[in-house]
Amino acid sequence: MMKRKFFLFSVVLAALVMSLGCGTTVIAQGVQRPKLVVGIVVDQMRWDYLYRYNTLYCDGGFKRLMAEGYNCENTMINYLPSVTAIGHTSVFTGSVPAIHGMAGNNFYVDGRYTYCCEDTTVRGVGSDTKAGRMSPRNMLATTIGDELRVGTDFKSRVFGVALKDRAAILSAGHSANAAYWVDYSTGGFITSTYYMNKLPDWVVDFNKKIGKHPKAEIQYTSLGNRMTEEMAKAVVENEKLGQTGQTDMLTMSFSCTDMVGHKFSTHSPETQAVYIDVDRRLADFFSFLDKKIGKGNYLVFLTADHGASNNILFNQKHGIPAEGFFVEKALKGVNEYLKTKFNTTRNLVIGIEEYRVYIDHKAVDATSLCLDNVKKAVIEWFKKDINVAYAVDFERVAEATIPAPIKEKITNGYFRRRSGDVQLILNPACYDVYGDKIDGGTTHGQWNPYDAHIPFLLMGWGIKPGAMQAKTTINDIAATVCGLIHIQMPNGCIGNSVFK
Ligand code: ZN
Repeated sequence: MMKRKFFLFSVVLAALVMSLGCGTTVIAQGVQRPKLVVGIVVDQMRWDYLYRYNTLYCDGGFKRLMAEGYNCENTMINYLPSVTAIGHTSVFTGSVPAIHGMAGNNFYVDGRYTYCCEDTTVRGVGSDTKAGRMSPRNMLATTIGDELRVGTDFKSRVFGVALKDRAAILSAGHSANAAYWVDYSTGGFITSTYYMNKLPDWVVDFNKKIGKHPKAEIQYTSLGNRMTEEMAKAVVENEKLGQTGQTDMLTMSFSCTDMVGHKFSTHSPETQAVYIDVDRRLADFFSFLDKKIGKGNYLVFLTADHGASNNILFNQKHGIPAEGFFVEKALKGVNEYLKTKFNTTRNLVIGIEEYRVYIDHKAVDATSLCLDNVKKAVIEWFKKDINVAYAVDFERVAEATIPAPIKEKITNGYFRRRSGDVQLILNPACYDVYGDKIDGGTTHGQWNPYDAHIPFLLMGWGIKPGAMQAKTTINDIAATVCGLIHIQMPNGCIGNSVFK
């Protein structure tokens, strides 16, 4: 009896010591965590849009994040290329392509053109088209959601929502309960057999309620943002996220901002309108969470997967040096050069994708040529292009004469089997153009601040209002969130918490 009393006394004492020693984070009953973690990505949102459209935002959306939340003002992407699949993966894995393997939206694997989320071993659920044949299998690292699931013995539930498959799938992770994205042939949310064999009834009902709309209407009007937010709400409602006793996670990505940005560029009325619309959606969603989960009971963070360049013609009009890098012309040109130089009839370069040159290794093997010589010739050819600042052999980045910050981004972005052979770095305001005419749109994918500087704000559970100017990276997002909710960082994470 005495022994038992002493044991109980020791437990109480230990709990008291723990609670005193660790502040308010650990209490006797267990670890404190929010009811729900919400990770929001606004596709193509440049950091400066927080300020560019500030006076047009309402109080409940971006401005609420800035007033009530913690704003990391200098969060940079630290790899190349800055594109959607890599951005979402890097936010949620806290890692870089060299480690998580997500080398682009599209890349070549052993000469085969590959879409980042394609998976021929799965089928669509709610869809018969190839839009459904998607999974996170090409991503090699865990996400915040994966670690939350593992850390709570899979009691926590994790869901991803976006119009774009890659945005929903790569954010949510490998062990997610579901990722939902849109098949434009039906206009409804779908998933794949990677997650389940049948759409839940509530998703079928949701799709019926939304009705069938043309692709362009979903992508370029307020409908797309509304569908994204309504679906996110429907997941919280129907899956009872944050309402069953453990910490759950929802990832949502607004894709229309990217589609509108590509078509109309950074300074158009259309782009302004889409950000005002997202702002209203955020305000509505936060007030929904306040009611459903309770203010202060959920942790939300908002960021972007990349930014965007100002339009070339816009820059030229204002005297800023800018030119197009014409991809098809460059591909044809380099292949003609190699044919003459090496006296072959074969095309030795298979493609130029996201500022990377992919040499056709099989074609080189079939000749008596050595890969190194072909690579040298490719670099020679691109060095003659006045819009190309550097052409860098991926295997010799260390010895290349280029500024250290760019060197680091090339190395972080290089995953040997998927990244090709030569990285192209263009002059500051140049970007790749398809076709032979520069249009009024824009793109992204490069190292420069317009593409690499992204917003990162935290709000809600455990967050005191504030801001920091010191440099942080996209990798710090996962490290910070995992630190706040007391779970292990993802297995490829190289970031640090922004809180000291
Ligand atoms: Zn994107």
